[in-house]
Amino acid sequence: MTDVTRRLFMHAASVAAAAVSSGASAGTRVAGPVRVIASGNGASATQKAWELLQEGLDPVDAVVGGVALVEDDPLDNSVGYGGLPNERGVVELDAAVMHGPTHRAGGVASLQGIRHPAQVALKVLQRTDHVLLVGAGALEFARAHGFQEENLLTEHSRKIWLRWKETMSERDDWLPDPADAESPVADFFRRNSVLVEDTGRLRFRRPTGTIHCAALGAGGSMSCTTTTSGLAFKIPGRVGDSPIIGAGLYVDNEVGSCGSTGRGEANLQNLSSFAAVELMRSGASPEEAGMEVLRRIAKTTEQRLRRADGKPDFDISFYVMSKDGRYAGTSMYKGSKFAVTDERGTRLEDCQGLY
Ligand code: ASP
Repeated sequence: MTDVTRRLFMHAASVAAAAVSSGASAGTRVAGPVRVIASGNGASATQKAWELLQEGLDPVDAVVGGVALVEDDPLDNSVGYGGLPNERGVVELDAAVMHGPTHRAGGVASLQGIRHPAQVALKVLQRTDHVLLVGAGALEFARAHGFQEENLLTEHSRKIWLRWKETMSERDDWLPDPADAESPVADFFRRNSVLVEDTGRLRFRRPTGTIHCAALGAGGSMSCTTTTSGLAFKIPGRVGDSPIIGAGLYVDNEVGSCGSTGRGEANLQNLSSFAAVELMRSGASPEEAGMEVLRRIAKTTEQRLRRADGKPDFDISFYVMSKDGRYAGTSMYKGSKFAVTDERGTRLEDCQGLY
């Protein structure tokens, strides 16, 4: 890069960074729907983000502020503090943010020891010329920006991980605590197990979970974020869809936004959030777009991951909102909810199921 192009770049970056700071859109407001949607674990996040929008914050600041409540929550085992760890017992977080008006994005992957990865992702967007930082580099960057390191593994999450390790094989040397049969941890395992008909035994299904949150502000600005501890007990270094722009989230300010929770590998293989926004650009409603990406996933799922009836053996959900404020939640299987806050208040609504 020459000095001139560097100066031009620095100028463009500072203009864009200013636009991404809080309240940038407040002066250009026109009437329009104001709405925040999120995955089913995100009712507190949509409420908070809505309040921040009312205070005049930019939607990107509002969604990052909203999901911070869930990142902080030790009882949500899928995000931030208290998230379930990787197979070695270390919590590794993925997150990304995307800002509609500037089309800028930031993400972090395999980040350890920082409870608000969405805030670090926002810093990547605002304070670097990059989109994605991973692992040790992401941590170094977070430290440089003053984020405090801490142990994110709560006692509850540690005990769940330990029991998983002790029960996954009868051919290793780890044995579960026989006195543990009635504990909250044993209950967690029961709730996340399915009956295998052939053997009559319960099979533990590794829990998934994440929060996605998207906001439409009064001036028509859209932004979104996805933040997660990812697949429980993953191979260290595994990165899911959540920090990948186009997979776990995407927004085009002229069209709409989409984000996802559930099996990240399916989104990485189908770039589903990008696909859903492009389907809306071609005229699909949020619900049609969300259902079509589910059909594509169902069609391309490999045999190993299909149930006896041929359907995918995993769930995955999409949270889709169009520029004009229409919105939908769609899931592979009926039964999931998603959160909405708008002028009617905060509520959970049903996702439409493909099956
Ligand atoms: N999509 C996340 C991932 O694959 C996990 C989840 O949403 O449950 O990392």
